[in-house]
Amino acid sequence: MFLSRLGSLHALEQTRPGRFWARWLGQAMPSADSIGRICSRIDVSDVRASVHQLYSRLKRMKALEPPVHGLMQAVVDGHETTAGRKRCCSECCQRILHTQAGDVIEYYHRYAVLRLVGQDLSLMLDAEPVRPGEDELAASRRLVERVLDSYPRAFDVVAGDAIYANTEWFQFVLGRGKHALAVLKDNRPNLIEDARTLFGVLPASLDEPAGNRRRRSWDSDAFTSWPELAPRVRVVRSLETYTVRRQLDKQEEELSSDWLWVTTLPKARASTQTVVNMGHDRWTIENQGFNELVNRWHADHVYKHHPTAMLVFFLFSLLCLNAFMAFYRRNLKPAVRKAVSMLHVAQLIASELYASIRQGPARTLI
Ligand SMILES: [Zn+2]
Repeated sequence: MFLSRLGSLHALEQTRPGRFWARWLGQAMPSADSIGRICSRIDVSDVRASVHQLYSRLKRMKALEPPVHGLMQAVVDGHETTAGRKRCCSECCQRILHTQAGDVIEYYHRYAVLRLVGQDLSLMLDAEPVRPGEDELAASRRLVERVLDSYPRAFDVVAGDAIYANTEWFQFVLGRGKHALAVLKDNRPNLIEDARTLFGVLPASLDEPAGNRRRRSWDSDAFTSWPELAPRVRVVRSLETYTVRRQLDKQEEELSSDWLWVTTLPKARASTQTVVNMGHDRWTIENQGFNELVNRWHADHVYKHHPTAMLVFFLFSLLCLNAFMAFYRRNLKPAVRKAVSMLHVAQLIASELYASIRQGPARTLI
């Protein structure tokens, strides 16, 4: 269902007569209702073990290499899959919405998700539900604890957005033998003020083109304004300027983005450029992870509103995304990849599924 991007158990059920299923499963495919019910009773650790199996095979085959700087990064981020005003299960989180008609309660499900960022192949390793009444950091901590047990040497650095610039979080990550990296925003007001002041007067340590941008970077490991964490912490700033042509009057306009990251990585382990690149790679969890899963893989669809079933379906979507990306990047030759898009390949998989309904022996693409 996910690999063919069918989007619903009903659509999957319509392919039941396909010979592909009989050949692949060795028996008839269960009904949509049965699949939903079964997924609410599956042991989630079995699905996680499948994700791990794919990772292990890729690692063994040297198909999962770190970026050129040599550090593997685990990016942790929160992702909300569904929200509505009708409570549907015991694990729905809730928040108050202030509307013109008064306050209403909205129910939602949110996961902490971990993505392993490699050179040209990244994997979604695991997800952990945010439980009612707790925050994302609590779920992320359970997630990272479990991933570290299953994948102890898979990564060197744990990165996150500004909410992860948190003393307990950084201490937890350091305590588990990894380095931490987080976006620095106003939630650490003293540190950001000191960084802006110092970097406002210091010359840039790097000034270089980066694609169509000019990137200037500042780097200092002498900040004393996060004493709860360490006597001194390292902050890296990247100011990137680029020009765009405005659609309205065709005039060129200069735009800029200004980034600050705080990290426990020492300069000897990661250069300024490495920290900047890792900071930007954090976005792959948004751009290539969640956006891809939601827009192309229907990962946010509620296939069955049951806490276990929802997690199982979400993990299935991560597993299928990983398998698909590994196939696309490692099995297809560059010339083929140039000729066929990922959507094209997904539609080929779906077309084989549908073709097997009508006639002839089923052939599998993978
Ligand atoms: Zn629910």
